[in-house]
Amino acid sequence: METHDFRSLDPEGHDLEELRALGHRMLDDMFDNVSFLRETPVWQPMPDAIRNGIREQKMPHAGQNPQDLYDFFSSHILPYAVGNRHPGFMGWVHGGGTLPGMLAEMLAAGLNANLGGRDHAPVELERAVIRWTAEVLGLPVTSSGVLVTGSSMANFIAVLTASRATEDGTEIRTKGISGRRLRGYAAETAHGCISRAFDMCGLGSDALKIIPVDDQFRMDIAALKTAIAEDRASGMEPFLVVGTAGAVDTGACDPLDDIAAVADVENLWFHVDGAFGALARLAPDMRSLVAGIEKADSVALDFHKWAQVPYDAGCVIMRDGSRQRATFAQNLAYLTKETRGMAANPPWFCDLGPDLSRGFRALKVWMTISVYGTVELGRMVTQCCAVARHLADRVAAEPRLELLAPVALNIVCFRVKADDAVVNDLNSELIRDMQESGVAAPSATTLRGVRAIRCAIVNHRTLPEDVDCMIDHLFKLADARSPE
Ligand SMILES: *Cc1c(COP(=O)(O)O)cnc(C)c1O
Repeated sequence: METHDFRSLDPEGHDLEELRALGHRMLDDMFDNVSFLRETPVWQPMPDAIRNGIREQKMPHAGQNPQDLYDFFSSHILPYAVGNRHPGFMGWVHGGGTLPGMLAEMLAAGLNANLGGRDHAPVELERAVIRWTAEVLGLPVTSSGVLVTGSSMANFIAVLTASRATEDGTEIRTKGISGRRLRGYAAETAHGCISRAFDMCGLGSDALKIIPVDDQFRMDIAALKTAIAEDRASGMEPFLVVGTAGAVDTGACDPLDDIAAVADVENLWFHVDGAFGALARLAPDMRSLVAGIEKADSVALDFHKWAQVPYDAGCVIMRDGSRQRATFAQNLAYLTKETRGMAANPPWFCDLGPDLSRGFRALKVWMTISVYGTVELGRMVTQCCAVARHLADRVAAEPRLELLAPVALNIVCFRVKADDAVVNDLNSELIRDMQESGVAAPSATTLRGVRAIRCAIVNHRTLPEDVDCMIDHLFKLADARSPE
């Protein structure tokens, strides 16, 4: 018999009770922290001592006291997070998170389920979430889908599936893309992950033809038709058109109904990147903007943005699940499906995407949708859009400010006016000043060569007074830079 000291990693006796007490404190502290977000800065630069304290972390050979590690978290991590929970966070497209979502994360981690496959209740719950998502989008409840990290992965899965759904497309799985001249289409306002999906699929990003947009930043349908005709004439194989519901720069929604009609006539796969905009379906006053999404062959969306589910939680939905399985399923001895026992219950999620081991993201999505209900989540979408319109009205009313794009949904792009020679640099500086002030956190983008202060209202905690406070502070920052 070996002399090994056989034991698990689970604490016992006094250690167990100490950890339990610490766990209760962590829970209480995080409830307090979320309740008092407004009293903290949105973001603050990390002092060198903090950054170095993290960078110089030594690999622990011996175990450390969880209480000390929690102290490190409280001093080094918590105060220096990116700030997207804060009502003043308006940069990029970030959800705010919720306490019920946090609790679901804890339960999921406690259960430690692997949702790659097999016959267990967590798999059924993910399927329920997929069915609800299809219903929200207006796709058939028989649609398939899978929860993934985010829309980058969801869009990739959709582009890959569309390429395999072409004539003889499944051969690409074994023979590679060589010789095929597949061509896809997306507006110039499409998210960068679409072009990267083409790259990652081996099609090459040049296989994505970029279509210009109109003055509302929506795909120009005449230009789309022309591009398809030109490509067919030169021997290309058009296979996919991507519409965007909620473009990342301006919130514009492509005319999805018109794109669906073109896809139908041209026999193209119609994919919608609805990362945040797809959930406009839940808001009665906004849903007409994404009309036509229900005609899509596939949709990518995020629950971690407008649905406020804690990171990460993206989703891809496919009208025809057999296409998704034909793209990813493999026949492997160690993953054989049975008719009974734990290896029953196909199709498994590992046959619907590139991941085998996958966590229980579905629990936090299910919990969030269930705690709030779709009506309340829709009201929250409506509220974010109303806050964005309030900001746009304020910008329009201020002679020093200038709106740079129409506000269709929840994103406002504007700038402080100044001489042409300095205006772009000034606005870039002001965005950085604002972020460092801790008052609010807009981000930057460039629209037709013009540097914009970009505010995306995605956080359920952001109210009209928060955008007013941001504008008031912007004037102070601008005055400090160019005293009049
Ligand atoms: C955020 C976003 C993406 C990428 O989604 P991730 O969840 O960050 O991977 C894609 N498209 C649009 C329109 C987005 O807003």
